[in-house]
Amino acid sequence: MKIGTKVIHAGLGPDPQTGAVMTPIYQTSTYAQDAPGQHKGFEYARTQNPTRSALERNLAALENGTHAICFSSGLAAMDAVMRLLEPGDEILSTNDLYGGSYRQMVQIHEKYGLKATFIDMQDPSVVANAITENTKMLWLETPTNPMLNILDIQAICNIAKAKNILVAVDNTFASPYLQVPIDLGAQLVVHSATKYLGGHSDVIHGAVVTNQPELAEKLYFLQNAVGAVPGPQDCFLILRGIKTLHLRVERSCQNAATIANFLKDHPKVGKVYYPGFETHPNHEVAKRQMRHFGGMVSFDLLEDSMENAHKVMSNTHYFLLAESLGGVESLIGHPASMTHASIPKEERLKTGLTDTLIRLSVGIEDIEDLIKDLAKALDSF
Ligand SMILES: *Cc1c(COP(=O)(O)O)cnc(C)c1O
Repeated sequence: MKIGTKVIHAGLGPDPQTGAVMTPIYQTSTYAQDAPGQHKGFEYARTQNPTRSALERNLAALENGTHAICFSSGLAAMDAVMRLLEPGDEILSTNDLYGGSYRQMVQIHEKYGLKATFIDMQDPSVVANAITENTKMLWLETPTNPMLNILDIQAICNIAKAKNILVAVDNTFASPYLQVPIDLGAQLVVHSATKYLGGHSDVIHGAVVTNQPELAEKLYFLQNAVGAVPGPQDCFLILRGIKTLHLRVERSCQNAATIANFLKDHPKVGKVYYPGFETHPNHEVAKRQMRHFGGMVSFDLLEDSMENAHKVMSNTHYFLLAESLGGVESLIGHPASMTHASIPKEERLKTGLTDTLIRLSVGIEDIEDLIKDLAKALDSF
């Protein structure tokens, strides 16, 4: 099955009882049993819910895994993956990642004995050299956030495989339409489904996909034992969003390419970070592992002035000034004060994340309107 068919059909089918074409929202907390212990596979809705199971089947198919496990948010999904590790274990992570992921590793899991080390993973040999005997997992996010560097998933997985180390990839920015980490050797894929999978900025949701049944069993245990589960209505919204994933991401990538080129040629714009440029340091890797170059573009102003950056961000009309990404509407954001405020400034600057960096999540509106909007905002100073 190809991806455009998978998003609509994989793991899904008409409701056996009524023929309902859309997966019903099973808004229930519990299920009646015929006799003690005699049930239809459903006992209590933290443990199982048919709407959630339908979404889990669909997500597993989209990411070419065997199992998907859903959570109440992307960070809850990540938390479950962290709990696969033991005190004393080390995790090597990319140093350019979602601020909340950094915060969780450093402020939550380090307290319980996990050691997190953040390195620039663009060069796989740097990853190989940073591995110690206690390294049990590599944590990748690619394209990285917000600098839009690309990590070579396959090369890093080959290094990890030789040393029996798990690789987890946060695939939120690419979505399974652009990149399938399991096909490149990863064992775990994490999503903030809040973003492209949901796609309509109306729900917070997370998921882990794996191709390792033993890991899936541990993750289902954590889903039930910790209890950070999504409600059935939220699962329905993600299922509904996924049905147009391919169309939305396709359009968003086209729009982002046009915008990246517009910004590159604009006299007031400094550096534009976009993996679709041939001059981008990891352009070849992006071409190899991604279908398109994504819907995100980051840029600096030529004059690195906070005041001007503020003017740009306050003067767009269609680009709403907001955190998050991956929705149908375009968003403009200021990573230093918004998504990445939880990362210390020295750490941010190491990756090139200046206080004036602006990040765009390009939506699926008409490109002429988006360009006009940015042109007007850049004229405001
Ligand atoms: C938003 C985001 C998260 C966190 O997901 P939530 O659903 O907000 O908990 C994790 N990783 C990336 C790359 C994100 O963009």
